[in-house]
Amino acid sequence: MGENRQCPHEETLPDPQQSRHSITSLSSVAKTELVRGVPLDLCLQNWGVHFRAPHVGKEVDNFGLSHPAEHIDAFLSHDWRTSRFSKTIALFLIFNSLPACFAACLTSLLASGMIALDSLPGSWITGSAATHAVFYLVFFFGQRLRRLACLKPTLVFLDRLCIAQNDEELKQEGVRNLAGILARSRKLVILWSPRYFTRLWCTFELATFLKEENVKPIQFMPTAMALLLWSASLVVTIGVSVYQSVTYRTQAGILEEPAGWSLNSILINGSAMYISMFLVMAAPIYFGIQHMRDLLKLEQQMTGFSIKASECTCCVLNHRNPVTGEPLLCDRELVFQTLKRWYGTDTGSDDHLDRFDGVVRERLRRSVLRVVGSGAPPLRYLLAMVGTPSVAVWPQYVYLRNSEKAWFATKWLIDFWKLPAVALWAFWVLVACWRTGAAVSRHCPMWMVLAGMDLMACFLVPAVWVPYEVLNERYRDPVVLTISVVLFWALIVVMYGLLYKQKKCRV
Ligand SMILES: [Zn+2]
Repeated sequence: MGENRQCPHEETLPDPQQSRHSITSLSSVAKTELVRGVPLDLCLQNWGVHFRAPHVGKEVDNFGLSHPAEHIDAFLSHDWRTSRFSKTIALFLIFNSLPACFAACLTSLLASGMIALDSLPGSWITGSAATHAVFYLVFFFGQRLRRLACLKPTLVFLDRLCIAQNDEELKQEGVRNLAGILARSRKLVILWSPRYFTRLWCTFELATFLKEENVKPIQFMPTAMALLLWSASLVVTIGVSVYQSVTYRTQAGILEEPAGWSLNSILINGSAMYISMFLVMAAPIYFGIQHMRDLLKLEQQMTGFSIKASECTCCVLNHRNPVTGEPLLCDRELVFQTLKRWYGTDTGSDDHLDRFDGVVRERLRRSVLRVVGSGAPPLRYLLAMVGTPSVAVWPQYVYLRNSEKAWFATKWLIDFWKLPAVALWAFWVLVACWRTGAAVSRHCPMWMVLAGMDLMACFLVPAVWVPYEVLNERYRDPVVLTISVVLFWALIVVMYGLLYKQKKCRV
């Protein structure tokens, strides 16, 4: 938990008369005109400019970007101090990664079809480049493309854009109606960072969703995990491009196939491969270890959660606007009174707060850890980000189908399946290194942990892939190829099955 600032509202609460409102609990029935949504493409414009930390009293009003709406597709809950870039990537991942995966597959299929008919200018290079380009185009600009295609935009609620910032009366009314707005939202998206559960408003937004009998979906996305998946996707894209270049040069006779495995060639090629892998793996391993340490904090935060210890800006500012000096209402009062209405009974003054703490510590903790506890991202995002770059190989394999050196016509189509398997295997190894690294880093200096984990990853990734290649190079037999691809995938299914079965970050 972060530092616990006690609310000084006992001495510094402003006179409620000055705000023209009396303090009552926050309403959970929203006035229709106050339920406002902003199209996701506007919310994400300029790489998440609206997610920048606000300056109290110097807020630019972008209220006009939002409009009244009957229902909100997603209520975005986040903490302002977390980097805007990581929150933006997390939203790209949640809303754009699956459409990007479908669009890339479709492009690759189309390009492959055209190559089969010899009608694609630039042949497989155009097809593969277009596949990667379409993936990133949809990943970064998917919501804008939706608008261009006249599809209904995804409506989200972001407090800064959907609550008036420069009209104090409208602002108070908007804040007071937050619970009602949440009730009209289809799901709650939590962009989590270790600060999240220390913030009063973040936990209040959560409380609103948890109070419903039929709890609506809560999508929990650690922002560090989103960055990791994106960086892993970039590494796989580079890896696939290098692989394609080597395959092409070997097939075109530019690269000689080794006549035999001499000690020299093994040492030279092996060392070059090892050193480049070591360098490429360093960053994802470092960020991954940090991510695992964050997850450990998450478990501690949720186990010891206390809404009384959460922080809010008004208390930090001593309930005075730092620019105008005007008094600010204490949000804590409003929130606590609302919680009393939802979780309270007639006995004990603080029972309702304890009861809410209990819901977070037990019910929410169990469901959050079920999703992210193992440290691995949800499978659909993993496949979209780490599996998709491999489909760029289809156009090249269709192009190579009649190659002299192809062992048999369908070799390339079967051989393709090793690529997503290698990418998934590498990611599994990374998750194992993060967990081990996070455990060891409590006792060892970070540089030592990083070097150790990097060496381990560089040993484990080729440990499965290299035997696969050697076996098929040696036998050049369709049956051996098919069996080894099936065995490779069986290994992937078993390893991921074991990984996702773990509901707890065991480090
Ligand atoms: Zn306060």
